Parts: sequence; structure tokens; C-alpha cells
Amino acid sequence: MPVTPELLDRLSAQLGPAGYSTDPDVIAPKLVEWRQRWRGHTPFLARPSSTAEVAAVVSACAAAGAAITPQGGNTGLVGGQIPAGEILLSLDRMTAVRAIDPNNDSLIVEAGATLASVHQIAAEAGRRFPLSLASQGSASIGGLLSTNAGGVHVMRFGMMRDLTLGLEVVLADGQVLNLLRTLRKNNTGYDLKQAFIGAEGTLGVITAAALKLFAPVISRHVVLVALASADDALTLLARTKQSFETLSAFEIMNARSIALAVANVANVKAPFDTAPAFTALLEFESLDGLGFADRLETFLDRQLQDRLITDAVIARSKAQEEAFWKLRESLSAGHRTGTPQANHDISCPVSMTPALLSAAHATAQELVPGATIVAFGHMGDGNTHLTVMAPQEMSQDAFPRDAISHSIHAVAVGMGGSISAEHGIGVARKADFAAFTDPLAIETMQRIKHALDPQSIMNPRAILPEGPA
Ligand SMILES: Cc1cc2nc3c(=O)[nH]c(=O)nc-3n(C[C@H](O)[C@H](O)[C@H](O)COP(=O)(O)OP(=O)(O)OC[C@H]3O[C@@H](n4cnc5c(N)ncnc54)[C@H](O)[C@@H]3O)c2cc1C
Repeated sequence: MPVTPELLDRLSAQLGPAGYSTDPDVIAPKLVEWRQRWRGHTPFLARPSSTAEVAAVVSACAAAGAAITPQGGNTGLVGGQIPAGEILLSLDRMTAVRAIDPNNDSLIVEAGATLASVHQIAAEAGRRFPLSLASQGSASIGGLLSTNAGGVHVMRFGMMRDLTLGLEVVLADGQVLNLLRTLRKNNTGYDLKQAFIGAEGTLGVITAAALKLFAPVISRHVVLVALASADDALTLLARTKQSFETLSAFEIMNARSIALAVANVANVKAPFDTAPAFTALLEFESLDGLGFADRLETFLDRQLQDRLITDAVIARSKAQEEAFWKLRESLSAGHRTGTPQANHDISCPVSMTPALLSAAHATAQELVPGATIVAFGHMGDGNTHLTVMAPQEMSQDAFPRDAISHSIHAVAVGMGGSISAEHGIGVARKADFAAFTDPLAIETMQRIKHALDPQSIMNPRAILPEGPA
């Protein structure tokens, strides 16, 4: 249904001058996705400052049958936050801390708060929120929940779904569903919050969340390791897990991903004189740090003697730790170039990662001879970010992006994996989501969607194909 002038008048009156904009210059940055792959349009940007205002916006849209696209920090990588004519509902003014209880290890915060600000709030209370990713300066709690974000510490702490105790959600009819509990144990019927986590704004608007906090890290150790192959990386991962309980990140980066980050991102340096096939970043946390550095050195020496690794460098200062992480966090920006490319966020059982990498490489070469592969990611949890880059002379039009993605996704699914490990479906992965998912699972999701949003006004273009109620 088109957005009517009457609806816009009603929304403007409800929100007041600070709570909305129709100015194209104000709205423009919210209409383009980070990789510039999707550009959108909207007649109206709503910027409510409270749950009551979100509820008023959603009620008015429901009464008018007008669709809504929720948006947080606009760092999503599958296009679900970019409107195509819907009302754009930004949570960017809802950043308040509602409660913090260090003795219960819990924090209640509004959905527009950035992840970086949540880190800061937790640290000030002597606690820690462990989710960590390169977009944390902009990504919001509502967006992280709606995409069930992962990041670099999943192997130790899990994804957003695992880190959430409760939610507050404005439903598609404008009612407020208050599930803001801070309990570890609560077996009272269906765990409704899980329906909204990972729903990408298709079932309601998340307005606040109760998050789990943890003890702060006293001692952190970060290492970069040079490896000749992905198989060696897998063996190193297994040996590391056997020797240390506190491995919190095991990230791998292929040579191409590092070369592009060094070439295209300021202040990023190659860690080794001769580029290895793979570099792994290992992070360990310990509560006291006693004797840990010695144990780590002994362990790495043994791997060098066994020729499992070809080199290793341990961060000796906070600045060096940050430089190692900066390398890892610059990889996405490093290959955000004009070169035609197909980006993937796939997962498989951890043990299959080397096989996945070589099968994906062979598939890409078959479809586009001369293509190069940028591969990096969270080997510790089986998630690989894999980009197929066109050879230099190939144009955007000639690059068979969809065919490549379909084939790479088929490789992942064939190995028991997923076409979307942590970014979601959005609009980017809809066709392959439908192609690779059990039809009964899709139908069950459509029934849930229809029950909660019968008019299909909540982010109607994301995730699900149109289908039976
Ligand atoms: C450089 C870079 C690195 C990244 N690294 C990682 C990574 O390691 N791991 C990872 O998981 N992701 C990563 N991402 C992806 C992205 O940061 C996450 O998907 C993040 O969770 C999106 O948060 P956001 O606030 O920007 O959401 P947006 O992009 O604004 O929205 C994402 C989706 O959530 C919906 N939504 C947003 N807010 C709400 C709300 N309050 N209620 C209901 N629906 C809502 C939107 O409609 C959209 O469908 C990365 C992105 C970039 C640019």
C-alpha cells in the first residue's frame, strides 16, 4: 500500500520536529548499504525517542497498511535495512541504559545503543559484554539481535542469541511485548524472545534488550601464526584447544585478504616478511595471567619444531595487540574495491573448513577462470567469509555473481553447512535461502510471520518468499 499524505501528517504530529525527517540530505546516508550494493528510497524517516513513540509509529502504519523498514547502525551486509519506499524507522535516538546489575551480570539497554557503547558501559561497571566485531562502533544492539550477529568470540561466548536474557518488542499491531527478564532460568512456556532474534525486523521492532555480562579479562594474549595450509590451521586449532581452555578467538586470513588490506587500508602492515598461505590470529584470555606467557611460548616452540607452523609472533604490548586485531578487522574494508566480486558468509562443521576452501576455490575457477579468492574468518566456529574477485579485465556485467554465489552456497550446503552463518538473509540471500531450505521449514516460518504480522508490514521484502499463511 502506498504511503499517504495523511499517514505522514499523523506520524509528524506524533513524533514532533526532532523525531522525523523528510530532508533528502539527512536521510541519504541511511539509504546506502556499506558495500554500496543496495541504494534505497523512503518518503519518511521516523526517529522515535521512546518505546511509546515506536508503538505509536507502528500503530499508525498498521492502521494505514503501510510497511516499515527498521534500521539500527546500517552496517548489515545483506541489504535488509535499506528501504524501497517503506517508512524508515531508525532506532538511533534510543540509546539509554535502563538498568545495570553487576551482581546479576546483566544490563538492560535500548536497541539503538551501539555495541562499542555497551562495551564501555559494562567496563565502567567492572563487567564485560564479550560480543566483538569490526563494525562495533556503529552496529546497534537492535541490529545485532535482529541479525543474530556473531563476530570473533563465538567459539567461547556464542552469538547474540546466547548472550540475551530478555527483550522488549513492539509487535506489528503496535502493542508492546515486554519480555525484559534478567533470569538465567525461566522455563515458562515458549521462549518467545528467540523468535525475534535473527528475524531481521520481519516480526516486530526490538526496542530494548537484557544482555548477559561477564567477568572482565585480566590478561589477554594475542598471537599471529604463519601456516602453509588450511589443513595445518585446522590441526593447530585442535592442538590449541587441547592445551588451553581459554582460547577466545581463532581467526584465519589467506594471503590475498592480507595483501589487499595492506594495500588499501591505512596503517595496516603485513606481519611476516614472506607472506604465508594462511595467517592465524589466536587470542587467549586468562583471569590471572600467571605463567600463561611461558606456557604459550613453549606451546608455539613445539609447533615450530613439528613444522606445523612456519613462524609466530606474540604481541608484547597493548599497541601490538591492537595492531594485530587491526589487521584482522581491516580485511573487509581491504577488498571493498570497484572490482566485481561475489561475497559469501558461509559455515560448515569446523573440521570441514579446509575441504570447503578448496572446493570453493575449484568452483570459482570453473565458473570464472583467473578469479582470485579472498578468504578469512572465524575458523574456531566454522564460519568463513569468502569473496570471489573477478580477474582484472572483467566488467561488472560480465561477472556471473549470482551463478557463483549459487554454486558456492551449494558447496557449503553439500558439506552440511549454511549459506548464511552470521549476516542473515536480508534481500541478498533470499533466492538461495528458498532454494536450499526445506520447504516445510519455509512454510513454518511463513505461518509464524502471518500470525504475528498478518498484513506483512514489517520489513516485508526481507528473508521470506511470499507464500501461504
Ligand atoms: C566491516 C564490517 C564487519 C562486520 N563484521 C561482522 C562480524 O564479524 N559478525 C557479524 O555477525 N556481522 C558482522 N557485520 C555485519 C553487521 O555489523 C551486523 O549484521 C550487525 O548486527 C548489524 O547491526 P546494525 O545496527 O548496523 O543493523 P542494520 O544494518 O541497521 O540492520 C540489520 C537488520 O536488522 C534489522 N533491524 C535493525 N534494528 C532493528 C530493531 N531494533 N528491531 C528490529 N529489526 C531491526 C534491519 O531491518 C535489518 O534487517 C560486519 C559489518 C561490517 C560493515
